[in-house]
Amino acid sequence: MPEKTVFLCAICNVSSGSCSEDCSFCTQSVKYSADIKRYRYKSIDEIVNEALNARKNRAVGFCLVTSGKGMSDSKLEFICEAASAVKKRVSDLNIIACNGTATVEQMKELKKNGVSSYNHNLESSKEYYEKICTTHDWQERYQTCLNVKEAGLDLCSGGIFGMGEDEADRVSMVKSLKELSPVSIAINFFHPNPALPLEAKRLDIDEALKIISYVKSQLSNSMIMIAGGREYTFKDRQYEIFAAGANSIVIGNYLTTKGDKPDKDILMIKSLGLDIAGSCHG
Ligand code: SF4
Repeated sequence: MPEKTVFLCAICNVSSGSCSEDCSFCTQSVKYSADIKRYRYKSIDEIVNEALNARKNRAVGFCLVTSGKGMSDSKLEFICEAASAVKKRVSDLNIIACNGTATVEQMKELKKNGVSSYNHNLESSKEYYEKICTTHDWQERYQTCLNVKEAGLDLCSGGIFGMGEDEADRVSMVKSLKELSPVSIAINFFHPNPALPLEAKRLDIDEALKIISYVKSQLSNSMIMIAGGREYTFKDRQYEIFAAGANSIVIGNYLTTKGDKPDKDILMIKSLGLDIAGSCHG
């Protein structure tokens, strides 16, 4: 019998690019002219179709992501409309919103419209953040995570590894995550792009696996989700992430980079004798 269950989550990049912030790891910043698709909002039909497809590919989580630093009234209205439409058609998908800094009231509104979780990453340690972003501060990110909990949504938070941070930064970020105790931790690995000012070498696979194990050891009650940079970092050793402590992955494409085909991931998981979760709660 498989001893472990893997949760699959899919991402929908509802709006893309044109963000005025300067996060040096992000191709959606208007400052760096990266070669990505830019659009304001996908249509509700397109979003619902992506949700149906995600469920077909056995995803139990579906994340509605928007570019930009935070939530505006119009963005809130659109995400609420999208969440309700998805929930109506695919009722067994856990809907996660990821729309930047947001107030408790805005999050409560999302909840009323079918959103169960909110993703907001710390991205790095408090100490390292000023090296990767100068247009807003880390504390705002932390506060948004607190707001998620106050609004009664499940918190999904994490960060990006491989941005040139040192061991102390990693320990510090994980300590902050521990304080927040998210339901799910998103572990991303930096994926370079020639347009970005941040230049960092790909992490060694053993080092990246060690990071997963460390996060798991510190946050044993949280789900450990490997998100962006999985294929880029682990290449043909992706299967090792589960033994290291991961029990969730993002399937399909990421925000601005391509992921492996979901069929390939499902095959990998099955070949390891692992189960794929039928719902977000197991
Ligand atoms: S605020 Fe978000 S979308 Fe904007 S540059 Fe930073 S990470 Fe990218």
